[in-house]
Amino acid sequence: MTGQVLEARDVRRTFMVSGGFMRPKRPLHAVNGVDLRVERGEVLALVGESGCGKTTLARMLLGLLRPTSGRLEIEGRPVETMDRLTIARTVQPIFQDPYSSLNPRKSIGSIVALPLEVQGEGEAGRRRAEEMMELVGLPRRLFHHYPNQLSGGQRQRVAIARALVNRPRVVVCDEPTSALDVSVQSQILNLLLDLRAELGLTYLIISHNLAVVEHMATRLAVMYLGRIVEQGDAKSVFAHPKHPYTTALLDSVLTPDPSLGVPDTHLGTAYPNPLEMPAGCTFHPRCARALPRCRREAPSPVADPDGRRVECHLFADTGSAGT
Ligand code: SF4
Repeated sequence: MTGQVLEARDVRRTFMVSGGFMRPKRPLHAVNGVDLRVERGEVLALVGESGCGKTTLARMLLGLLRPTSGRLEIEGRPVETMDRLTIARTVQPIFQDPYSSLNPRKSIGSIVALPLEVQGEGEAGRRRAEEMMELVGLPRRLFHHYPNQLSGGQRQRVAIARALVNRPRVVVCDEPTSALDVSVQSQILNLLLDLRAELGLTYLIISHNLAVVEHMATRLAVMYLGRIVEQGDAKSVFAHPKHPYTTALLDSVLTPDPSLGVPDTHLGTAYPNPLEMPAGCTFHPRCARALPRCRREAPSPVADPDGRRVECHLFADTGSAGT
């Protein structure tokens, strides 16, 4: 089955946050006008530094937050018209920490079967939970074990089985392997890719680990201060990044200690305070290629014939920087 599963049009989410002692609250534009489309079967990776808005966007897709404005659709339906159960049957999360996301007092079988149990599926739910455990590579004998009896990789398989037992079409994977030993990370990533093919899943992956992103993604969306500044075919963006921020971010794959999680983007200045957005292009204080107009004018997105979309004045007229 093909077609669009997720669509965001000018989606915004603003939080009112404390402005300091005796000062009024101020708006923080965590997601500031995102346009995004995800086709069925794609693996879209959302990358960017901490605080860029990718987790807020993912929480809106999971129905955990409502957009302040804009249109967010799941399989053609606006999220605000869907109740939590309907969203949960369509979109499921896999979180980064399998240690804290599993209830230590519940057996593995009841953890996996829980989403079906709440829908009143008794014995049938238990059978489906066993089948799903098998599908993710967990032996049935672990059905009555508890999370503390399992390895980190096995626990992440439990989290995956629980997410998939309801047969969602979309899975949001938030740093799916960052809490695991390096030795099991690739097993989990390959399992996710196998399950995508077998169950026809669409993934939205959020990760700081660009090696994970390069291994998994078919499309890449780069976020900066609440906006997607570049998106396109993952291989093409990795090979030929256009936006100066994407270039800096992809260079960070050479950071000597990837376990630090947050990439060192070699940008010289720190990530701006989202409460004090720079005028014009919000990236201009850190951009080595900034033009005089970048301080005044925010760039509009430009799409090239290959579907690459870039928000930068360098590409405004032709779609190529021509430098
Ligand atoms: Fe740099 Fe200007 Fe492009 Fe922003 S619009 S990324 S400041 S060149």
